[in-house]
Amino acid sequence: MKYSIISRGDPFSASIVVELHEKLGLINLINDQDNPNIVITVGGDGTMLKAVHQYLDIIDQVVFIGVHTGKLGFYTDFTHENVDLLIEQIKNDEYIDIKFPLLSANVWTNSICEQYYALNEITLINAFHTQHLDVFINDEYFESFQGTGLCVSTPTGSSAYNKSLGGALLHPNLQAFQLTEIGSINNNVYRTISAPMIFPKEQSIILKSKDSYEVSLTVDHEHQTLKGYDEIRCTLSDKSVVFRQFIEKDFWKRIQKSFL
Ligand code: NAP
Ligand code: MN
Repeated sequence: MKYSIISRGDPFSASIVVELHEKLGLINLINDQDNPNIVITVGGDGTMLKAVHQYLDIIDQVVFIGVHTGKLGFYTDFTHENVDLLIEQIKNDEYIDIKFPLLSANVWTNSICEQYYALNEITLINAFHTQHLDVFINDEYFESFQGTGLCVSTPTGSSAYNKSLGGALLHPNLQAFQLTEIGSINNNVYRTISAPMIFPKEQSIILKSKDSYEVSLTVDHEHQTLKGYDEIRCTLSDKSVVFRQFIEKDFWKRIQKSFL
């Protein structure tokens, strides 16, 4: 069994990394940062997002274990106090794993397609100019959007940026994804639905640009500038991420603990 550790890098997280290497070595696990079976993150949800993106190519071969060194995370279950239990679980092969789906976005530009995967969300934002785009649902025209941007999120991403945008919190057992607006313009000329929309897995949202401004595409913590695109096709992908849970925790309890 091979493992890797991704740390936030602060002194407290670094001290847990040292402890983990020591204890995992004692149960004969091999440190392999390139090809692990187990990826342990030490930090917050942001650290977990980075780790998931780092191992996207081998995502179906790895399990992610999050040790949080701050507030309780949505993807990070263990604390430094239960590192021994984590080691024990790996040693005895006894654990509770949970699977969360990834969102896929196919960005088409001049007949070339770039594929992206998000654990939280994909956003398309123009902070400087009004963005004009057409929204299609399953290839049927739905609306013309004018405003700052749109956010498409996964169930587990629903408590992240989506929540700040007034989107619904989605229980991760639901195979669904959500579209929320970022600063839409609504008046006599322009009209959008102005409500978060939740889609079942097999459906897709297609965004077609109607202007030539540069826009920012964010995929979780990653971002890039798109200098024009033909269409962006978003749907819940068949790819998923497996997380190890400390103890089976009810999603709504986690929401309550984190936000109330
Ligand atoms: P970040 O500082 O790593 O993340 C921003 C905050 O969101 C952190 O407190 C992070 O928790 C938390 N978070 C991440 N995923 C979450 C989830 N699924 N549920 C609840 N909270 C979650 O910022 P970043 O490095 O740019 O990471 C990008 C993420 O930040 C994006 O995926 C997006 O969801 C979020 N974001 C939010 C807003 C907003 O709410 N206005 C705007 C931009 C981006 P930790 O402290 O544990 O890392
Ligand atoms: Mn961060």
